[in-house]
Amino acid sequence: MNILLIGPPGAGKGTQAKRLEEAFGMIQLSTGDMLRAAVASGSAVGQQAKEIMDRGDLVPDALIIDMISERIDRDDCAGGFILDGFPRTVPQADALTKMLVEKDISLDRVIEIAVDDDAMVTRITGRLTCANCGKGYHDEFEKPEVDGVCDKCGATEFNRRADDNAETVRNRLAAYHEQTAPILAYYKDRGVLSSVDGMAQMDDVTGQLKGVIEGA
Ligand code: ADP
Ligand code: ADP
Ligand code: ZN
Repeated sequence: MNILLIGPPGAGKGTQAKRLEEAFGMIQLSTGDMLRAAVASGSAVGQQAKEIMDRGDLVPDALIIDMISERIDRDDCAGGFILDGFPRTVPQADALTKMLVEKDISLDRVIEIAVDDDAMVTRITGRLTCANCGKGYHDEFEKPEVDGVCDKCGATEFNRRADDNAETVRNRLAAYHEQTAPILAYYKDRGVLSSVDGMAQMDDVTGQLKGVIEGA
């Protein structure tokens, strides 16, 4: 099964995608993670994307579309994937539809994680991840059991994203409403859109998502 999670920055796409990976054996495809890896490696794509990401704007469609097309061709996607952060514009959604037809792959469900924008600044500015295993945390909403120690691997170093500051978040939220929200109508028209309440507790959101996926 192949699914797509849509929601503004901070909605919980990454958190939930990791839980669904474990529950269903699908693989998370996060274009944000791929771009951050490209920036860290200093590749040509990374150099082009860095400044754009620091501002909270969207990187060019063509770059993202090529990146995801190559990624979907890899063997580990055969057991199903969870798209997280792509598509983010109507041209990207169109390109995905065409690409999947060409590759003979289905998109079984598109799920919106609906949230209030006002709460997203706190979610984003409090976000951190384990530097060793990548597990996500939040200063207020998902603290490690022992302060400063990763629950999963015991590491004591954590990372914060360069773009997770209050100013850039506002730009990212604006980009979401202007450029990404229109793809909800695109998928609604195609009869594949569901929505879950992303303001609920994390476990509750996971339960709602599992319900949608099991019913798909
Ligand atoms: P996205 O991938 O959509 O940008 P994340 O999954 O990284 O969002 O979540 C953003 C931050 O909010 C993380 O620090 C995460 O721990 C926290 N978070 C995620 N879901 C919830 C929730 N339902 N309630 C409270 N905090 C949440
Ligand atoms: P978020 O936590 O906002 O959901 P992501 O990790 O998905 O963040 O994306 C971080 C940044 O990477 C975005 O602000 C944007 O600059 C870039 N980006 C990621 N995915 C895409 C995409 N599909 N199209 C254009 N830009 C993207
Ligand atoms: Zn860890």
